[in-house]
Amino acid sequence: MTSRPDDLYRRYMAAYDATWQHSRTCGECRPDQPCETGAPLDERLARLQGAWLQHLGTRRS
Ligand SMILES: [Zn+2]
Repeated sequence: MTSRPDDLYRRYMAAYDATWQHSRTCGECRPDQPCETGAPLDERLARLQGAWLQHLGTRRS
């Protein structure tokens, strides 16, 4: 895996945007139980967030 930090951050922000915009307009999503459309968005955001935080952590130490 050789994704550049800039690219990772951009994808993280895009996923955040998509998830937020969906949850704002979706009436079926709940925090503990997203709808069929929201679930994959949530998973994607969580994965990218983990990767991004890991990147920040490795850079600090
Ligand atoms: Zn939803």
